Amino acid sequence: MLDRYEALQKNYSFWQYKYGDYVANEPLAAGSYETDVLIIGAGYTGLTCAREIRKEDKNQRVMVLEANDIGFGASGRNGGFNMTLFGVEPEVTLLRWGREKTREAQAYMQQAVQYVKGLIESENLDSDYEHTGMLRIAYTDKQERRLQKTFKLLSDITKPGSFEYLGGEETQRLLNSPHIKGAIYEPETGILDPIKHVRSLKNLAEREGAEIFENTKVISIAKDHAGVVVHTDTAAIRAKKLVIATNAWTHNLKSSPKVANRQAPVWTYQIVTEPLTAEQWKSINWEKRMSIEDNRQLVHYMRITHCGRITIGGGSIGLEYNDKKMNLWKNENTWANLEQHLKWIFPTLSDIKVHYKWGGCVSVNMDMTPEIGFLGDQSIIYATGCIGHGVSLTQLNGKLIADLVLGNNTDLTKFWIVNRNAIPMPPGSMLRYAGTKLIEGILKTIDLYEEGRPKVQNKK
Ligand SMILES: Cc1cc2nc3c(=O)[nH]c(=O)nc-3n(C[C@H](O)[C@H](O)[C@H](O)COP(=O)(O)OP(=O)(O)OC[C@H]3O[C@@H](n4cnc5c(N)ncnc54)[C@H](O)[C@@H]3O)c2cc1C
Repeated sequence: MLDRYEALQKNYSFWQYKYGDYVANEPLAAGSYETDVLIIGAGYTGLTCAREIRKEDKNQRVMVLEANDIGFGASGRNGGFNMTLFGVEPEVTLLRWGREKTREAQAYMQQAVQYVKGLIESENLDSDYEHTGMLRIAYTDKQERRLQKTFKLLSDITKPGSFEYLGGEETQRLLNSPHIKGAIYEPETGILDPIKHVRSLKNLAEREGAEIFENTKVISIAKDHAGVVVHTDTAAIRAKKLVIATNAWTHNLKSSPKVANRQAPVWTYQIVTEPLTAEQWKSINWEKRMSIEDNRQLVHYMRITHCGRITIGGGSIGLEYNDKKMNLWKNENTWANLEQHLKWIFPTLSDIKVHYKWGGCVSVNMDMTPEIGFLGDQSIIYATGCIGHGVSLTQLNGKLIADLVLGNNTDLTKFWIVNRNAIPMPPGSMLRYAGTKLIEGILKTIDLYEEGRPKVQNKK
């Protein structure tokens, strides 16, 4: 196991730190290459896509280039919730896209959760997966009224039994906190260890014959009549098809046609406690180990780790004025707020110590809706806008993109996020920053209104 200080210096997540003994593949050597498919980015999207293409067609040469070690992006630093939330909220999807598309999106996400669970089970992946179910909890009457409306909407668009509403007392029997007024329980969801899972996906892709090169950053993308040419510092790769799976980094890609305006990065932070004692576990009665999100606008997410700790994230987001820098890995205020919030939810844990803290970035677009698009014709495919809910989404997206690459017309490729009419991000850092700051301000105001006063003072 890595030294904790060293891991923090490298901006590793807890999961990377805990499973730090990892040997990366060699970078791509200098030279010229030709391939059928080139994938940029080795997170869940890129690795699943590589595996699915090779699994179906061994004649396709598939190369994957990753700027860091695999899983350095969101895929190796998330909460590990294998969950069905699409975009930011079902109400937002309903408002922008209407009932039928919201129903289809929810069905896609339910399929995505089963895809991940099925993959782990059928391939016996070492991902520490637990199919625990999930609670979405409300702390106040106002939050609860909104939660009941969400429950009604979700129940209307999904098959019976997908969601269950629990009152305050019922919820408190599952989780001993004095602050919970009610909850939506969703049984068909789970939790995994993000870094173990991403490394398992790498093994699967390689087993099928995909070639993965780590610490190999793509500098530029250009398209001509014969396909696509991608450059690293020292290599040129000509590809018939290109998949851009760079998520929150996509705005930094120099490409023609342009992909930079499809999304912007937003940062989210997590902390993990020391292992709880048997007495502490008993005091909070979290025996069923379900994952938890609260019904705030700036949501907190919380779960138990396989090694007997609690990790909590969210609450506040990070926005960088110059988002080309991608350097908001640390946020002491947000980490302190997360610790206070955890102790507020569970007063019996008032002495618990925080063991590790980290941050990561998610891809957000103008209409808060995931997107799979083409640049020009169908030889360049990109996926953006996971909106922080991408553990299941991006893996099924990987399979969907594999279908697009292979020219398969499937139920997946008919999903309406493919080639949708997406609104580009405003040009220039200032407008993007002002826009996202405005949205953050609105969300904070709603939380303030619904909670009466902030449960945890924001120092920012
Ligand atoms: C702290 C945190 C908590 C989260 N919690 C959850 C959760 O509990 N549940 C959930 O559903 N979702 C969660 N998410 C979101 C989820 O992790 C992401 O949606 C998902 O991992 C995105 O996968 P991806 O493969 O598309 O992108 P990533 O995993 O971000 O991969 C993109 C890769 O592209 C590489 N790259 C970028 N630029 C280049 C370049 N020029 N050349 C080569 N490579 C490049 C990056 O290094 C990176 O590895 C969370 C995210 C964060 C940050």
